[in-house]
Amino acid sequence: PVVTRFAPSPTGYLHIGGARTALFNWLYARGRGGKFLLRIEDTDRERSTPEATAAILKGLTWLGLDHDGDAISQFARAARHADVARQLLDEGRAYKCFATQDEIEAFREEARAAGQSTLFRSPWRDADPATHPTDMPYVIRIKAPQEGETVIEDQVQGRVVIRNDQLDDMVLLRGDGTPVYMLAVVVDDHDMGVTHVIRGDDHLNNAARQMMIYHAMGWTVPVWAHIPLIHGPDGKKLSKRHGALGVEEYQAMGYPASGMRNYLARLGWSHGDDEVFTDAQARDWFDLGGIGKSPARLDFKKMDNICGQHIAATDDAALLHELMDFITATGRPALPSHKKAMLFAAMPQLKERAKTYIELLDKAAFILAERPIAPEPKAAEHLTDVFRGILKELTPHLQNASWTRGDLEHVLNEFAQTQGMTFGKLAGPMRAALSGRSATPSVFDMMLVLGREESLARLADAAA
Ligand code: GLU
Repeated sequence: PVVTRFAPSPTGYLHIGGARTALFNWLYARGRGGKFLLRIEDTDRERSTPEATAAILKGLTWLGLDHDGDAISQFARAARHADVARQLLDEGRAYKCFATQDEIEAFREEARAAGQSTLFRSPWRDADPATHPTDMPYVIRIKAPQEGETVIEDQVQGRVVIRNDQLDDMVLLRGDGTPVYMLAVVVDDHDMGVTHVIRGDDHLNNAARQMMIYHAMGWTVPVWAHIPLIHGPDGKKLSKRHGALGVEEYQAMGYPASGMRNYLARLGWSHGDDEVFTDAQARDWFDLGGIGKSPARLDFKKMDNICGQHIAATDDAALLHELMDFITATGRPALPSHKKAMLFAAMPQLKERAKTYIELLDKAAFILAERPIAPEPKAAEHLTDVFRGILKELTPHLQNASWTRGDLEHVLNEFAQTQGMTFGKLAGPMRAALSGRSATPSVFDMMLVLGREESLARLADAAA
């Protein structure tokens, strides 16, 4: 069975690149009945913070990327990592190296002067343990292969060949007994049963060194897929300026999680010409072969477009639910149930062409507004003395209308005629009175959603 993992370092928020890596691993596992695991790589004690771990978990939760089992702390497994180093030592696949930093420097100087490789070759590699000093600190180094080559059969990058004479005897355990990161990753991936490592191609070089450890332990090497990093719209490395933001910022901008999953899936992966798809389709279609070899560019227009289509395709009840979650998550005031009911009634119109929840709520401003409504300056211009008088006269005519679209149209057109004008002339002031705004859904749509009582009260407020 397939086992993938996401292995973030908790040194900051979950940025968009990390989110995409997590998504690819999640899709790959979920589409194959496999497991998706989460490992927090918190071995850098200076830079790792619990806040960052919390932010990463929150970001994953928002995106709906659920992991199997508990999140694993890499730091908590340090003793196991050290055990593996000692096992390799016992088996003669690693050795104690007593070289001091000064000796290593001197070695490099000499090699440089002689025009030779500056890769450190430790004199302790083949030393008889009987000759080992007993009172000196040491590191444990792996005995790296010195001939031949290491081949990474990468599912994205293709066949990557590294000459073994370019690899040094990497340190596994430091002088203070702490394991190095490279060892921790391999031991964890092995113990967690990870079958597929899908991660940024900034880790491709690490794969060659990690393979040394797999080979030394006689463990099965996972399938590698190193995905190109995301670039900014200008093709340059992604920076904050481009939108290298934490996913919670996209959440705050009102992008729906389903749309973001779709957009992020398309960021560096493709399935024919399909741009907009459901989670189920993404799970069915996702494969490593569809991942592009060149860096994908962040494209906000496309993000907007895909997210807008997801909002439009979400059914009204589910969308209302998502909106309420958004309102809570972003600290907006909760809605009373009668406003929720109005939102639900207006949903078919509201969800058309809204790219974000914020745009949707903006279209719903007439619902959210509370009496007495303070009109925006542009809307206020419509509420002249003359029109306030006209609105006052209109109110009784609406009192007995049957509040269907047809009847409202009939009443309003007829009333406009008695005033010697078209309904078009009346629409601006009515819009201002009903919503306080100058750009809104149609007057009829608003009246139908607001209902008789609320509509009449707003018209009366404006006429007063
Ligand atoms: N912790 C690493 C990172 O955040 C990922 C290592 C891995 O996936 O093997 O870049």
